[in-house]
Amino acid sequence: MLKVLLARVQQGHRTSAFPDQPPALPDRFRGLPVLDSSRCVDGCRACVEACPTGAISATEERALPASPVAEPRRAEHPEAGLRLDLGRCLFCPECVQACPEGAIAFTTDHRLAARTRDGLVLRGPEEYPYAAALDAGLRRLFGRSLKLRVVSAGGCNGCESDVNVLGTPVFDLGRFGIQYVASPRHADGLLITGPVTENMRLALKKTYDAIPPPKIVIAVGACAISGGPYIDHAEQHNGADAVVPVDLYVPGCPPHPFTILDGLLRLLGRIDERAAQARAEVLRRYRGEIRDESIEWGTTRAEEGVKYLGLGAQPTDSDRRKP
Ligand code: SF4
Ligand code: SF4
Repeated sequence: MLKVLLARVQQGHRTSAFPDQPPALPDRFRGLPVLDSSRCVDGCRACVEACPTGAISATEERALPASPVAEPRRAEHPEAGLRLDLGRCLFCPECVQACPEGAIAFTTDHRLAARTRDGLVLRGPEEYPYAAALDAGLRRLFGRSLKLRVVSAGGCNGCESDVNVLGTPVFDLGRFGIQYVASPRHADGLLITGPVTENMRLALKKTYDAIPPPKIVIAVGACAISGGPYIDHAEQHNGADAVVPVDLYVPGCPPHPFTILDGLLRLLGRIDERAAQARAEVLRRYRGEIRDESIEWGTTRAEEGVKYLGLGAQPTDSDRRKP
């Protein structure tokens, strides 16, 4: 037992500081893609042909270079250029390797969740619309306590693993009041993974119907959004919204646990970028002050406190300044 306690003390606090601080992700992590259609060479469809799920499309106007002549033409064709559907994307990244001009690149931005299916379609340099929060009424109901029933509707176990890992000490989903429950009758919402195979369609519908209203539905992973690598296969339904209405889409194959957590917290209105920055700044300053205060000085203060405890006299400032 002593060994276990010692190991625990040595390990220290392992829970991530997210969302007060951004998660530390490796450089090789593939997050939000960026598109630069102005680099495309006329007639090139290398990325479109390389994509295994048809996530990328390109119109002929995409090759217009950035110039005063091209800009009015671009304005006439707002849909022109590369488009990438994050709901279909496997983050593989065949398109990046196929493109000779470097028109597609992946950033390490883990924030990918969106509230609508159309919101998952990237159209060039526009800012990505990160998931908006539920309305005030639902936030009041679920904001501090959300129970989810998880249904794996034919996934490969990739998304399921990343959903499960949110319960470990590093992510600690419970600290936000979010828990997975065993019965839909105890749940406030559904979290769905997998493309919804024909075998799981009825079970998914029955589980949804068994959850008392109001309820929310979260589709996690390319499969649950669009069918992913199984897209258009006859034995599945190309995602959860073919069977139930979806409130939050979390792309990825599988999504990183921080991407799922970010989507859940945004849905509940518990991520406010400015508040998080302010909290991180306070935390940094506090840690700086702790560092500045020497251990000896802290020990002296503690000894003084013990010495004066119960005697009615408190240490004065001049007492504290004594070496
Ligand atoms: S990274 Fe996404 S868009 Fe690019 S080829 Fe793979 S699935 Fe298609
Ligand atoms: S989205 Fe990818 S990781 Fe998730 S269930 Fe489908 S194939 Fe597996």
